[in-house]
Amino acid sequence: MPRYRLRVFGSVQGVGFRPFVYRLATEMGLKGFVLNDPSGVLMEVEGPKEVLDRFLVRLREEKPPLAHLFGMELEVLPEKGYSSFEIRKSGEEGKKEVFVLPDVATCEECLAEVFDPSNRRYRYPFTNCTNCGPRFSIILRLPYDRRNTTMAAFEMCERCRAEYENPADRRFHAQPNACPECGPWLELWDAAGQKLAERDGALRRAVELLKEGKVLAVKGLGGFHLVCDATNEEAVRLLRERKRRGEKPFAVMFRDLDQLREYAETDPFEEALLLSPESPIVLVRRREGSPLAPSVAPRLKKVGAFLPYTPLHHLLLRDFGGPLVMTSANLSDEPIVKDNGEALERLAGLADYLLVHNRPIANRVDDSVVRAIGGRRIFIRRSRGFAPMPITLPFRLRRRVLAVGGHKKSVVAIAWEDKVVLSQHVGDLDTVKAREFFEEAVNTLKRLYEFEEEVVVCDLHPRYASTAWAERYSREAGKPLIKVQHHFAHALSLMADAGLGEDGALLAATWDGTGYGTDGTVWGGEFLRATYSGFERLARLRPLRLLGGDRAVKEPRRVAFAVCFDLFGEDLSKYPEEVLKSFGPREAELALSVLKRGINSPLASSAGRLFDAAAALLGILSVSSYEGQSGSILEDLYDPSVRDFYPFGFDGFEVDWRPLFEALIGDRSPLEVRVSRFVNALAQVVKTVFDRKWEGERLGLTGGVFQNKPLTERVLELLKGREVLLHQKVPPGDGGLALGQAVFAGLT
Ligand code: ZN
Ligand code: ZN
Ligand code: FE
Repeated sequence: MPRYRLRVFGSVQGVGFRPFVYRLATEMGLKGFVLNDPSGVLMEVEGPKEVLDRFLVRLREEKPPLAHLFGMELEVLPEKGYSSFEIRKSGEEGKKEVFVLPDVATCEECLAEVFDPSNRRYRYPFTNCTNCGPRFSIILRLPYDRRNTTMAAFEMCERCRAEYENPADRRFHAQPNACPECGPWLELWDAAGQKLAERDGALRRAVELLKEGKVLAVKGLGGFHLVCDATNEEAVRLLRERKRRGEKPFAVMFRDLDQLREYAETDPFEEALLLSPESPIVLVRRREGSPLAPSVAPRLKKVGAFLPYTPLHHLLLRDFGGPLVMTSANLSDEPIVKDNGEALERLAGLADYLLVHNRPIANRVDDSVVRAIGGRRIFIRRSRGFAPMPITLPFRLRRRVLAVGGHKKSVVAIAWEDKVVLSQHVGDLDTVKAREFFEEAVNTLKRLYEFEEEVVVCDLHPRYASTAWAERYSREAGKPLIKVQHHFAHALSLMADAGLGEDGALLAATWDGTGYGTDGTVWGGEFLRATYSGFERLARLRPLRLLGGDRAVKEPRRVAFAVCFDLFGEDLSKYPEEVLKSFGPREAELALSVLKRGINSPLASSAGRLFDAAAALLGILSVSSYEGQSGSILEDLYDPSVRDFYPFGFDGFEVDWRPLFEALIGDRSPLEVRVSRFVNALAQVVKTVFDRKWEGERLGLTGGVFQNKPLTERVLELLKGREVLLHQKVPPGDGGLALGQAVFAGLT
């Protein structure tokens, strides 16, 4: 009888893999052992060859839902004569190749227990098992063992320990295993930190307060949420004012899919995304006349919806009844708050009460945001539930890399061999707190993986906080620093995301708001031919003037004014009423003189700014209160039945939008038609340039503008029959930059 020694690599620890192997081997009458070691799971199985081979097949096919196998090594050895099959103690030596798992939404079985009055975990908010619960948010170091998590301080009671030690139990080695007797508990505090209630009493009181229209800070999985009644306009408006949030939409948590369907129109694919174990926020279309408070998502027809993903959420939502606004608890652009003390200090002015608990959060991690585009899942933000799962490359890197990403929607990464591990969402690096979180994210990845890079890579932009950090850090550490052009990094990110081999080539539309070009000007509407070693800028959008510099990025009216100047010069009588109104006569004269002299109005070939211009020219938005607002409003007005488009020019390098805006300004059709003709024209631009420049490469769309659903879907439609690569594993926006940077530096 032969003996198979199997080494399994991947996310195989803490997901019930060993008990699964134990059950399978025992059931098939095989002898041997299984154990966790630093590189994954090691097992030996002995028995008749045909049974062993069937075991291999079943191992892959029947593995637990959360186990991801990256590879398997098989050695065939002579019989050893094992008398039983056993789970052995973990080995500690050897190279670390175990991956930190993301947090997982509560499973069906745990949920049933939480709502079963006869179960000992009835209404217990911290119920979990090997198939669900916290992972990344509680891990301090590898290997993933209770003593290395923030659950270390909780001594398991007898019954929990029995579950934990029984290979046949669903909670065998479920590291955060807990019950009301031995685990963490809730407390309700007032804004001064005074305890008002605890355990189930705290939960019930919190629900009453929410019904009274209060704003609560609720400690969740990866940080605090600010929570209020999503149908109470007064409460939502109050939260918006306190958070100084402008018009940026809030996410809403619904009790379950049935309730969500009353408020939004979802399709089966979106519902699958909502119900997935990662449980992200999904952008869905609001149902007309639904009772959601208007302040949840001003001017938008969509809403970021998600379902409960911890027992605490399930209890809150069921007790409360209606949907709840659940937005990351922070002050404007600062990172999400994770500790109780931090919450008291920073959220006191925002929340009336705090619902806290005593299971510390090791790693703060915001909710992920996705949407369905062209039948695919597109990330807006890749964080909880996904980070820090590695992305596997189809080739091996030659050097170990630390990639620091961009400046907005910052995400960092470490990469070695064929793996890239991206951090959770860090956010915009405009505040001191955000830059501290940035360093925290770098250090966490390095600590968890005991990783030391050989090279550091950053963006070319001299004013990105991440670039400044990388310059200083690499100098002090004596490590080489590589800088990668922003849009090239977007293209590389897409190539790696799509699994293009080392000799791959891509013709990409890389469209976003802004990025620093190799010529020192602002780029953002580029067509690149890229390989893993370099790129060529094949075409671009005609640059427009950013009237007032950085202020133009936040004020679409300024971009629109500059476009009008480009079209009509000083003849203000030809400028649309909507634009003039947003300026007033004095300011308009001033703007004219600035543009005439060409001062304080740098050129930018940005696609994002075209959306701004259109929004202002159409009188929809003159000053935006968050990044991407104009695109977000415009896409909601899009009518897919409109098929025609505004004209534009293309001379082989530059796409000229002057005919487009001239037509848009002169068009007296309804708003929806004009918006649709504008979006259709941009899609047509992509097709035209692709047709002219294509030399057999793969085609792809990358950059934040391709989070725009109608634009992206229209491009796919125009290019039907040809394969167009879209991002699947990382966001098309700057949250995906670090992946592109990492592969470039790792291959150089
Ligand atoms: Zn579970
Ligand atoms: Zn217990
Ligand atoms: Fe970008």
